[in-house]
Amino acid sequence: NKFVASNAPRSISISISRCISTLVLAEHESGSIKPQTVSTVVAANSLGENSSISLLLAGSGSSLQEAAVQAASCHPSVYEVLVADSDKFEYPLAEPWAKLVDFVRQQGDYTHILASSSSFGKNLLPRVAALLDVSPITDVVKILGSNQFIRPIYAGNALCTVRYTGAGPCMLTIRSTSFPVTPITENSESKKATISQIDLSNFKEDSVSKSRYVGRSTQDTERPDLGSARVVITGGRALKSVENFKMIEKLAEKLGGAVGATRAAVDAGYVPNDLQVGQTGKIVAPELYMAFGVSGAIQHLAGIKDSKVIVAVNKDADAPIFQIADYGLVGDLFEVIPELLEKLPEK
Ligand code: FAD
Repeated sequence: NKFVASNAPRSISISISRCISTLVLAEHESGSIKPQTVSTVVAANSLGENSSISLLLAGSGSSLQEAAVQAASCHPSVYEVLVADSDKFEYPLAEPWAKLVDFVRQQGDYTHILASSSSFGKNLLPRVAALLDVSPITDVVKILGSNQFIRPIYAGNALCTVRYTGAGPCMLTIRSTSFPVTPITENSESKKATISQIDLSNFKEDSVSKSRYVGRSTQDTERPDLGSARVVITGGRALKSVENFKMIEKLAEKLGGAVGATRAAVDAGYVPNDLQVGQTGKIVAPELYMAFGVSGAIQHLAGIKDSKVIVAVNKDADAPIFQIADYGLVGDLFEVIPELLEKLPEK
C-alpha cells in the first residue's frame, strides 16, 4: 500500500494500490514447461506493475523436479515455483487438480488465478471457479488492466471487453497465440525463482472421483506442436482418404511445419482429432498457414484468423476461404501438392 501526504497542513491524499498476486497453473511434459504456460506467464506479467507471479506445478517423480528447475528461470517475472509432488497428480485429471488449486489458494492471498486455454486449462479452471464460487473469464486475448480483459465472442467475429467485478480471485484462461514468447533458453545469469515443495500432509481429496485415468496415446513425431508451429499445413475433406492425407504430411515435413485438419477431415477419420483446427479445435497463429481443399467455414476460420500469411488452394473460385486468404490458387490439390513436393528442395 502506498500513502502520499501533500504539503498542505490539513489535506492528506491517500492512494492505495493493491498488489497483484497471480497463481499460474503450469503444464509440463517430459521435464519441460509447455510453451503455453510461458505465454500465460507473459499475460500474468501484463496485469499490472506490482505483479508477483507464482507457478503451480503438480505431478510426480524426477521429471516434475526437472520441470520445476526449468520453470524457475522460464521468465524473469516468476517469483516462486510451488511444487506438488504426489502420485495423485501423476495424470492431469481435473478433479484432484481443482482441489489442489483450492488448497494452495487458501495458503496464499492470490488476486488472480490463470491457466492456458488448452484442453487442460479449459477442463480445470471452470471446476476451480465452481469451488470458489466465482465466474471465470475464458479465452482472454488482451489484458487492459488488472480487472479488464478482451475476449472473442461469436466464433471470433466480435471482440468483447469484460470487466471483472467479483469478490473472489479473478480467474482467466489465456489464449496463448495472443501472448507470444521467445523460446526458453537456459541462461545461468538469468534471475531464478525460488522452488518450494508444497506440504501435502493436510491435503484431502474426494474419496469418490468422477473420472479416472485410462490411458494416453501420442504420436511419435518430429513435427512441431500444432498450437505453436511457425508453419501449418492443413487438409480438408477434399483429401478423401487417409492415404491421400499423407501428401499433406509430406509437405509439412518439407516445410518444417505442423499438420492441421478441418473437422470434416477429422470426422471422416483421415487424421486424429488432436489435429483439428478451429473453434472446437486448436487455435493457431503461424507465420504461414496453407489450406488445401478447405472451404473456409466460419468455425474453421475462427481458429486461423491470427495467422500472418494465409495461402489457400481450392478448386472452387467462390470458396469462402479466398475471402481471408493472402494468396489464393484456384486449382486441384491433387495436381498442386505433387508439383509442390517435386519443386521444393529436400529438407
Ligand atoms: P467442405 O466444407 O466439404 O469443403 C471442402 C472444400 O474442398 C470445398 O471448398 C471444395 O471446393 C474443395 N475441394 C474439393 N475437391 C478439391 C480438390 N480436388 N482440390 C481442391 N479443392 C477441392 N470445422 C473446423 O474445421 N474446425 C472446427 O473447429 C469446427 N468446429 C465446429 C463447431 C460447430 C459447432 C459446428 C456446427 C461446426 C464446426 N466445424 C468445424 C465444421 C465446419 O462448419 C465445416 O463443416 C468444416 O470446416 C468443413 O470442412 P472442409 O472445409 O474440409 O469441408
